[in-house]
Amino acid sequence: MLLEGIHHVTAITGDAPRNVAFYTDVLGLRLVAKTVNQDDIGVYHLFYADWLGSPGADITFFEYPGAAAGTAGAGMVHRVVWRVASDAALDFWATRLGVERRERKGSDPFLSRRDAAAVVFRDPEGLEHELRVSAAPDEPLTGRHPDIPAEHALLGFEGVRVYSVDRDGSADVLERLLGARRLDPATFELRGERRGGTIVLDEPTVRGRPGAGTVHHVAWFSLVDDHADWLDRLERDGVRTSGIVDRHYFRSIYFREPGGVLYEIADEGPGFTRDGPLETLGEQVILPPWLESRRAAIEANLTPLPTPLRR
Ligand code: ZN
Repeated sequence: MLLEGIHHVTAITGDAPRNVAFYTDVLGLRLVAKTVNQDDIGVYHLFYADWLGSPGADITFFEYPGAAAGTAGAGMVHRVVWRVASDAALDFWATRLGVERRERKGSDPFLSRRDAAAVVFRDPEGLEHELRVSAAPDEPLTGRHPDIPAEHALLGFEGVRVYSVDRDGSADVLERLLGARRLDPATFELRGERRGGTIVLDEPTVRGRPGAGTVHHVAWFSLVDDHADWLDRLERDGVRTSGIVDRHYFRSIYFREPGGVLYEIADEGPGFTRDGPLETLGEQVILPPWLESRRAAIEANLTPLPTPLRR
């Protein structure tokens, strides 16, 4: 039983309109769903992904309007790493984002250890991303954008980097419980039948503070048929979990690993087309059925969002 790399990464935004503009119009992802937070129906939960809304390219944001900027620190994901196809794609993104390419000369701590070059940048609220050329054989997961040639598009997640407060404990959970393979002292790969992804365990340098521009959790991708078995495996090992939670688009199990990072194991579930046809994903606010009768009032209360380009 293996995990298929990263399913999604969930972060926090204090500025949903700017968040939509950046992840769709700048990065070229598709807004595949906008739902409300079931614990607070006055705010959004936004989901971006490739055109098909695939696990493996899905970054989501909880909206906390006006939230102060956070800092990634101990027990938190501090960087989201995406794949691109070529060195020319790195040039394209460096120009588009107005940042310098980073070349590996000596030991640039900002580069993943096995990279020759990368583009590192932050979103408007400080969430750090890296683009790297990937040799992974996985199916590319791309969006559609008039200004981003397909050969330069983001192709889905390569991995995450985290600040672990217990790197031995983190490594133990990754290797022994989650089936990861250690690629170098700090890098682990979780690879299944279809896809794979990596996690790098970094030494925390700061304490960290949750807030806008920080990651809430990272979800690993389980095949549907394995999902309940992952819960069994974790519980047999004494891990305290959430049990299986129905997240509408997929099913989830949450637990905190020894390094302090909140993990989720999510399956493919019905996916985003549960809400309607692929062509119109993300256009309507999605409400749970029991809130449908209050739609007008709920929508009037939500932050107005820009409409992403129709492609
Ligand atoms: Zn999640």
